[in-house]
Amino acid sequence: MAGTAAVIGGSIGGLFAAAALRRAGWRVQVFERVGVPLSGRGAGIVTHRHLLDALAQVGADTSDLGVQVDDRVVFDHAGSHFHTLPYRQIVTSWDRMYQTLRRLIPDEDYHLGEMLAEFAEDDDGVTARFESGREARVDLLVGADGFRSAVRAQMLPDVQPAYAGYVVWRALALEADLSPEMRDRIFDVFGMFMPQGTQIVGYPIAGENNDLRPGHRRYNFVWYVPAPDADLDDMLTDDSGQTHAISIPPPLVRDEVLARVEEMAARVLPDVFRHILDNSERPFFTPIYDHLSPTFARGRVALSGDAACVARPHVGMGVTKAAQDALALARHAAGELVTGLQAYSAERVPLSRAAYERSQMLGRHMMQAPETGDPTDGRNNPNMEEIIRLTAVADF
Ligand SMILES: Cc1cc2nc3c(=O)[nH]c(=O)nc-3n(C[C@H](O)[C@H](O)[C@H](O)COP(=O)(O)OP(=O)(O)OC[C@H]3O[C@@H](n4cnc5c(N)ncnc54)[C@H](O)[C@@H]3O)c2cc1C
Repeated sequence: MAGTAAVIGGSIGGLFAAAALRRAGWRVQVFERVGVPLSGRGAGIVTHRHLLDALAQVGADTSDLGVQVDDRVVFDHAGSHFHTLPYRQIVTSWDRMYQTLRRLIPDEDYHLGEMLAEFAEDDDGVTARFESGREARVDLLVGADGFRSAVRAQMLPDVQPAYAGYVVWRALALEADLSPEMRDRIFDVFGMFMPQGTQIVGYPIAGENNDLRPGHRRYNFVWYVPAPDADLDDMLTDDSGQTHAISIPPPLVRDEVLARVEEMAARVLPDVFRHILDNSERPFFTPIYDHLSPTFARGRVALSGDAACVARPHVGMGVTKAAQDALALARHAAGELVTGLQAYSAERVPLSRAAYERSQMLGRHMMQAPETGDPTDGRNNPNMEEIIRLTAVADF
């Protein structure tokens, strides 16, 4: 069938679901709780062939999507290129991806400032109720409302994301602010540094307004750092003493938390990555969570994107996974809806599990001690070959 659908969540996952359903003939409304146009979440996005195919299938513009990198380079602590693997990939930015997808949804069907409160389902449809008092009566409800999904909380109340024991610090440096010598050593490659227990991934992305001209781009810095539960609570506590649940808005991160990460950077990182950090805007962190829903659908309600499954960022697949969910959802919803959604779940749960388990394996590889040699110099990770070959690679 192609009837009416409400998509909860207006970020990349929700936009993909809405675009795919619209292409299949559905009349779709998107409801996003944030009251202003979304921007700048998460900075860099690694793309894959599956993602480029999915963008083309929903009618998105993929020209000048991002910066092409041809090599993956492992740096050692001295800042030398220790190991290189040729691997061509386009790296883009969250903003570029969001804007590309947002253009596919008419403004009158995209509603900001609408937070889902609850939904009620009967034999004929689903009624979504919003905090504003608004109601939407539809044939299909899609929960694309992220890993703390309100749709999933009502559908599967026992499913809770689990903290993985480390956070990711992220930062962006302007290409123009880097010294020519550092820029030449790091900017054009997908760079990595992997001593025991921590890891850096970095790559160039477009500048402001998707500017791809050399000299106008930015460098995306991603640093995984262990943080036991007690440390995480402290990091999530702001200057007023309030401890935030799950994540803290970047401006509220205390200066002493930033000072600690800067001290660690001075001790642990090669000069190239220190230079990136020194020339970045205020870095911010996100705790890493694991989450896989046992089913992605019940009745007339489906989950997609991070609401359905979060694979740790090592696989760089969140957007691609959301795109694949969207296309599968639109395909399976074409027949009898409830049966189609069960088929959607049966297709997507195992494929999402593959990404989820791969990301956990890469997380374990990061922590493993070397059999011999200095664990801090970045040359002795026993899993280096596998990490460089499988990080941000979607081969399933
Ligand atoms: C460090 C890091 C690096 C990453 N790198 C990559 C990468 O290289 N490649 C890649 O593909 N992916 C990457 N990802 C993951 C990727 O960003 C996400 O998986 C992807 O954007 C899909 O997100 P989503 O739209 O499902 O969820 P979200 O982005 O969380 O969006 C959910 C939306 O729902 C809204 N919402 C929540 N509750 C409600 C409610 N009750 N009512 C209405 N709206 C609601 C929220 O405001 C939000 O806008 C990375 C993630 C991190 C943390």
